[in-house]
Amino acid sequence: MNASIIDGKAIALATRKALRSRVEALKERGVTPCLMVILVGEDPASAIYVRNKEKASEKLGFAGGVTRLPESTTQEELISLVEAYNADPKVHGILVQLPLPKHIDERAVLAHISPDKDVDGFHTMNAGRLLVGERCFIPCTPKGVMRLLEETGMELSGKHAVVVGRSNIVGKPMALLLLQANCTVTIAHSKTANLAEICSQADVLVAAVGRPGLITANMVKPGAVVIDVGVNRVAEKKVVGDVAFEEVCEKASYITPVPGGVGAMTIAMLMQNTVEAAERALS
Ligand code: NDP
Repeated sequence: MNASIIDGKAIALATRKALRSRVEALKERGVTPCLMVILVGEDPASAIYVRNKEKASEKLGFAGGVTRLPESTTQEELISLVEAYNADPKVHGILVQLPLPKHIDERAVLAHISPDKDVDGFHTMNAGRLLVGERCFIPCTPKGVMRLLEETGMELSGKHAVVVGRSNIVGKPMALLLLQANCTVTIAHSKTANLAEICSQADVLVAAVGRPGLITANMVKPGAVVIDVGVNRVAEKKVVGDVAFEEVCEKASYITPVPGGVGAMTIAMLMQNTVEAAERALS
């Protein structure tokens, strides 16, 4: 089998285009969606991610922007800034770019973001709402993956989904969303025994690990849909996923490339969550 490529770039572009009319409708009511991104320190990968978020926000005509703070920023200073944005009615979304410098406790900072402005969906309140199936901000990467799966036209109900990775920002919310879609879900992680055997039972296989080439063809069921969340920089200008792309293409029915798959969707979903936050603030 030669897998069809799920074109995340094109789907993200269409998603962002579709947001334009919602942004216009908000503007007609005197509201401009406003996303404030906070970047602390000089991490080069974070700087690129933040610049991409900034560009996407500008293209959609959002207000807001990026606040760049020095590495030496204290936890208290960062929390004060978050609280200032919480109190500002013109701000609809707040995103603190992770990872933060080592002297800052990430969970403590995230806990100060108002759940109503938590467009990354990382606040415990939103994580809990996702768990019990209430309306919430869904973390952008797994939300984007669900949109990519929709594009395949596959009926998810009753399928076996295996998620490799159990982080709070990707693996766990991914598993919950697949469960909501009535998949039977297995979560694998670094302590999982027989990873290959478990993966090879998956109708939907999501790799969110950060290990280049971890998922090889022998771990993939013929005809499976394979979603590669991993982003691994293997050379100055070369980024690969967690899936051995060429060989897995021979087994899968659909596959996402890296780059051009999940990554593009993550930003589109952030834009969608921000528009949603602005709409909610009006209602
Ligand atoms: P984390 O490092 O937080 O989590 C990695 C997970 O992979 C952990 O649960 C870990 O298990 C598991 N793991 C590690 N090694 C193995 C192994 N050999 N076999 C099975 N499981 C293993 O990473 P994130 O969840 O934040 O990100 C995962 C990947 O996705 C990264 O490459 C990241 O760059 C990328 N990413 C991409 C985004 C995008 O927009 N495309 C957005 C966010 C992340 P354990 O819990 O036991 O340690």
